Amino acid sequence: LDCLLFICRDVSERKAMEARSRELLVRLDASNKELEQFAYVTSHDLQEPLRMIAGYAQLIERRYRGRLDDDADEFIAFLVDGAKRMQAMIRDLLEYSRVERLGGQFESFGMGEVLDDVMANLGAALTETGGRIEVGPMPQVTADRSQMLRLLQNLIGNALKYRSPDRQPVVTVTAEPGAGGWVISVADNGIGIEPAYFDRIFLVFQRLHTREHYDGTGIGLAICKKIVERHGGRIWVESEPDRGSVFRFSLAETQG
Ligand code: ADP
Repeated sequence: LDCLLFICRDVSERKAMEARSRELLVRLDASNKELEQFAYVTSHDLQEPLRMIAGYAQLIERRYRGRLDDDADEFIAFLVDGAKRMQAMIRDLLEYSRVERLGGQFESFGMGEVLDDVMANLGAALTETGGRIEVGPMPQVTADRSQMLRLLQNLIGNALKYRSPDRQPVVTVTAEPGAGGWVISVADNGIGIEPAYFDRIFLVFQRLHTREHYDGTGIGLAICKKIVERHGGRIWVESEPDRGSVFRFSLAETQG
């Protein structure tokens, strides 16, 4: 009887615990949504004053550079750079909440066409880095085309940005059937990522490699994750420091 009572208590405690954790998850989800709404409203409202600060900082730089002392030139350069970085952050934050707020416009298209657009957009980065992008056969998919463009552009842009100083960047994009649809991979031969950070880099504002002075806002991969999840897929990374990284995402066959 004792044993039975013990099992009953154990089961009811477990049920209570499950209910508590479900409740907690619902609350976490709600507060996350509130936070996203807050991020959207504030970043939207910050755009205008920031445009003014950036505009005047640039004007001062153009008009007074070399006419004040060296310290002043340096301070103005900091101001211009800081304002630009803040603008980039706000632009990315708005984009992040836009993906959440607006659904997707699903249509059928070839992923190869999207990659052509990505390469046209990244033309300058390719020339500047002496990089190469190799693209394997790509499938026809049903998805939101502009979100796919953003996703691949973020991944390929990062693959070029986080290149190794020792070699020219080579990015390989491939697709294979899997996970009830396709798994698309973007592989690079860049600086790589420590396994401890494989999950964290997909969260907002999580940046590594800041000591090496790579520019960035820490929002790009969070946008990628949101886009992929909106399409019912998942995104993950496999990487070895100093060798390179492979970012993969799955895409279900039919969407919408
Ligand atoms: P960021 O604006 O900093 O590039 P992301 O969200 O795109 O923000 O990426 C988050 C972090 O993940 C980056 O700061 C960088 O340290 C790491 N990372 C992303 N892509 C790569 C890559 N291809 N190779 C190495 N590190 C990467």
